[in-house]
Amino acid sequence: MWFRNDLRIRDNKALYAASMRSKVGGTGNNHFLIALYIISEEEWAEHDEAPVKIDFWMRNLVTLKASLDKLAIPLVIKTARKKTDVVKVVEEVVQGMDVSHVFWSQELMVNEKKRDRLVREALVKKHAGVYVEEHEDQLVVPAEDVRTKTGNPYAVFTPFYNTWCKLVETESHYLEITEMPDANPPKAKEVYAEYFKAKPPSSHPHPLDVDEMKRRYPAGEDEAHARLDKFVQEKANKYHQGRDVPQQDGTSVLSPYLNAGVLSTRQCIVAARIANKNKIQSGDDGLKTWIKELGWREFYRHILVAFPRVCMSRAFQPKTEQVQWSDNDEHFQRWTEGKTGFPIVDAGKQLKATGYMHNRLRMIVACFLVKDLLINWQRGEKYFMNNLIDGDLASNNGGWQWSASTGTDSQPYFRVFNPLLQSQRYDPKGEYIRRWVPELKSLTDKQIHDPSQALSPKDFAKLGYPKPIVDHAKAKARYLEEFKRALGFP
Ligand code: FAD
Repeated sequence: MWFRNDLRIRDNKALYAASMRSKVGGTGNNHFLIALYIISEEEWAEHDEAPVKIDFWMRNLVTLKASLDKLAIPLVIKTARKKTDVVKVVEEVVQGMDVSHVFWSQELMVNEKKRDRLVREALVKKHAGVYVEEHEDQLVVPAEDVRTKTGNPYAVFTPFYNTWCKLVETESHYLEITEMPDANPPKAKEVYAEYFKAKPPSSHPHPLDVDEMKRRYPAGEDEAHARLDKFVQEKANKYHQGRDVPQQDGTSVLSPYLNAGVLSTRQCIVAARIANKNKIQSGDDGLKTWIKELGWREFYRHILVAFPRVCMSRAFQPKTEQVQWSDNDEHFQRWTEGKTGFPIVDAGKQLKATGYMHNRLRMIVACFLVKDLLINWQRGEKYFMNNLIDGDLASNNGGWQWSASTGTDSQPYFRVFNPLLQSQRYDPKGEYIRRWVPELKSLTDKQIHDPSQALSPKDFAKLGYPKPIVDHAKAKARYLEEFKRALGFP
């Protein structure tokens, strides 16, 4: 079983299938299930993976190994110096350990699909007799099952979600949780003693406080399930009210676990559905809203499969590629440093400090970068990936293209967030701003949203906080003009 971004033993289709296959020879046989993980720094670099995210993955690898140890399943960890070496590494393991069957969960990204095809070809052609089995486990409903009446993939969320909900509600197999794998015969521990003794890398260097990151995001399936259960039982019914207020702890913060595959989307939906008395699109307002957000995650994955150009640096709406972006590096730099002079935008410093950013903030800072600064959304997309512990190509690209109005859905180009109104609406008391922009701590709830206007020039200068780097009204007009030009509107 080759683990990649599915670092869990529960509800893992490929792992379960591998476990069943290894039992075929009967008890006391010499068919053992072996687990493989390949560290490939070049692949991480190719996807701009954040060091905090890699660290989280490595910590989860340690807990995965502990779970596998209990099942007497050895975990073999190899390193591929170059990404093209991955094929060779798998071949070496297959040959060296006399492997007859190889299992993995399909990945959705173009490069990973290509890599898997090469591995499959190498194993099947060069190592006659080796059998490869790929499992579709990244999507709750396989891509080919969610289709419009004319048989095409959906490109708009709401009709996609309606069809998707109907399928999961009427066909129970989509939400079936896969059984746990069986343990190997105890003899496996003797045969593969060196792998049980080996220690996986338990960390990866990153710029944040190591203990703080462990405290915020402890590794492991048990932790992920404890969080899921607590959220579903204690918070989910208020999710529709609290999810948009960054200062409130109203969301699940399960994204790092979902993206490392420590938890499956299916497990989340099943837990929420049970709490919602078996309902998906109706029932409790909080639970159904939360399930719908998981639907967005699913939607962006389906988009990646149907329109792979989105993960090849292309806009979903090709016309928007005509936009002439600003190359003002100083503006970009100040956006990354939280020095734009717009307090709610600068509160996005949460990202650099914790590896995570609340969804409302992600939308605000993304819209600001694209529409106020007219900077290419792809720069923001890359910056997010470089820093997010939950960085995920499909959701990040989908979120950026939504914010930039270059993507699939209902955010028309003429809708531009006003940072002041967003601030007053979603952080009315300025609590979130105070937390992440401490220079503004002493200001009143009213002053904090727009200090350069609310204070006298003398008092404002004492704060040591920058003036707004653009005039929002003028910036909006510039952006609208440019988008209209690019889209060919009069
Ligand atoms: P909850 O509110 O508890 O939601 C539960 C789960 O549903 C999330 O963990 C996530 O898997 C999914 N989800 C929720 N909202 C969205 C959404 N809008 N799009 C897709 N899935 C969603 N999410 C990522 O997982 N990785 C990213 O790299 C990422 N980049 C983003 C970039 C931008 C510009 C924007 C606007 C959004 C991005 N999102 C991304 C989506 C969303 O912000 C996060 O999923 C969410 O903030 C994670 O917090 P949570 O686990 O508490 O979510």
